[in-house]
Amino acid sequence: MALSPSVTNELLRQLDHRPNKKLGQNFLIDGNLVEKSISMADLPKKMPVLEIGPGLGTLTERLLAHGHPVYAVEIDRRLDAHLREQLASYIKSGQLNLLRADAVKCPTGDLPEEIGDFAVVANLPYAISSAWLEGLLGSGKLPLRMVMMLQKEATERMLACPGSKTFNALSIFLQACYKTGGKHAVPGQCFFPAPSVDSVLLRMDRLENKFPFPKDVRVLIRRIFTQRRKQLGSLIKNENSDIQEVMLSWLKRQNLCPTIRPEKITGSQWTDLARCLSEKS
Ligand code: SAM
Repeated sequence: MALSPSVTNELLRQLDHRPNKKLGQNFLIDGNLVEKSISMADLPKKMPVLEIGPGLGTLTERLLAHGHPVYAVEIDRRLDAHLREQLASYIKSGQLNLLRADAVKCPTGDLPEEIGDFAVVANLPYAISSAWLEGLLGSGKLPLRMVMMLQKEATERMLACPGSKTFNALSIFLQACYKTGGKHAVPGQCFFPAPSVDSVLLRMDRLENKFPFPKDVRVLIRRIFTQRRKQLGSLIKNENSDIQEVMLSWLKRQNLCPTIRPEKITGSQWTDLARCLSEKS
């Protein structure tokens, strides 16, 4: 069950721990929301779950009680130590695998190489949510489903449509592999301390015909989007001759003018271009 604000406060005092703003330490204190995160994920029995930022273990404990093997990644030394003590029996039985690491560097934690389907359920640290997600999408291990607590603005960028101001490289990479499975606005009082930004619980479901972008194409698209207001034709000139050749002939085949701006190109067009670039390399 989620801890109340006073119990959370007392626990933090006992641990001599002040919530670290830079690490996005806004702990869940609403039991309904913890259960909502789990029910929204609608996980098959015993499906392994990757949790980024277990914190005080509120969500972790419920996932474990529901019988899921949990792979958790926590960066904070003191919280990691607390979790190891609090959840020692689960660690001993092998149901909980806890890794103290930076999830941006280790986006899938200690998930075994040969893992089958797994899910992500996490109240993410907002500062790293985009970088972690991009790392996950590039890891080759794509969860069947993700239920993530995110900053509202990050959700808007992830789900943005082409042509909108918020459409970016991550919108392309994410939407090529996942579709939205539901959204739920979350009030600030569900956390301690309350964050200064709005939060959303977002479910994403893996597509049957997913297309994980290859690393070199992701780097290229990311580079192009740093100058999103420029025309694609002029951005191409900065690339090597092979890339220029593929992109110019692709633009022609798509009946697109080189004056088009990157943000106007749709996700499926980027996917098609990525396929052409991969064939050439
Ligand atoms: N899951 C807990 C909950 O719902 O109450 C805590 C969520 S809190 C929003 C985010 C957690 O992510 C914190 O425990 C923080 O220490 C951890 N964290 C922050 N940056 C991290 C990183 N780069 N890698 C792994 N964990 C991180």
